Amino acid sequence: MKVVFLGAPGAGKGTQAALVSKRYNIPHISTGDIFRQNINNKTPIGIVAKSYIDKGQLVPDEVTIELVKGRILQDDCKNGYLLDGFPRDVAQAEAFLSFDKIDAVIDIVIPFDKLMRRLTGRRVCASCRESFHVDFIGSLQVCPKCGGTLTQRADDRPDTVAKRLDVYTEQTAPVSRFYEEHGLLHRINGDQAIEKVFDEIVKVLG
Ligand code: ADP
Ligand code: ADP
Ligand code: ZN
Repeated sequence: MKVVFLGAPGAGKGTQAALVSKRYNIPHISTGDIFRQNINNKTPIGIVAKSYIDKGQLVPDEVTIELVKGRILQDDCKNGYLLDGFPRDVAQAEAFLSFDKIDAVIDIVIPFDKLMRRLTGRRVCASCRESFHVDFIGSLQVCPKCGGTLTQRADDRPDTVAKRLDVYTEQTAPVSRFYEEHGLLHRINGDQAIEKVFDEIVKVLG
């Protein structure tokens, strides 16, 4: 099964992708996570990506498309994969059509005015990459799953979040319409408990 997750920053893509990846035994490929790893390791891709991510802008299509193309050719993607955060503009979606065929697109939708709180309250485990929210974990400093250190992403600070939400509206929202026209889009209500959202996704994926 080859699945794409769409949704605004903070909609819950990463949270649901972790659950779906486990349930269906397919790799969870997050372009954001791949960029952040490259930034930590100061690779050439990381150095380019950082200058865009810090400003809340998209990393250029050429870099991102090549990265995904290479990633889905790896052995662990033989039986499928879950893409979280790609494609993020119509040019990426069109390029992607030319190199692979997907089964379903899940668009996680939540009211726009809830996204700022989701993102500024997000804490991410430096070890297992899982996301948590201060509304649930309070001031806990360590990951409830693995004991790793919880961090706040630099791009989750309010000014960068505002920019990312604009970029979503202008560049990523049209990707939903693109897949709707291709008959692949399934909209899921992301404004409910994590388990409920997951149940709805499983109903769609079967
Ligand atoms: P995305 O990958 O779409 O940017 P995340 O999965 O990282 O979003 O979720 C953003 C924040 O919202 C995280 O702090 C996460 O713990 C929290 N979150 C995710 N799903 C829900 C939900 N259904 N209800 C409340 N909070 C959620
Ligand atoms: P979120 O889960 O909050 O939506 P991501 O981790 O997916 O954030 O992405 C973080 C940043 O990485 C984005 O703001 C963007 O700069 C960059 N990025 C991730 N995926 C892509 C992509 N497909 N194309 C261009 N830039 C990307
Ligand atoms: Zn952890």
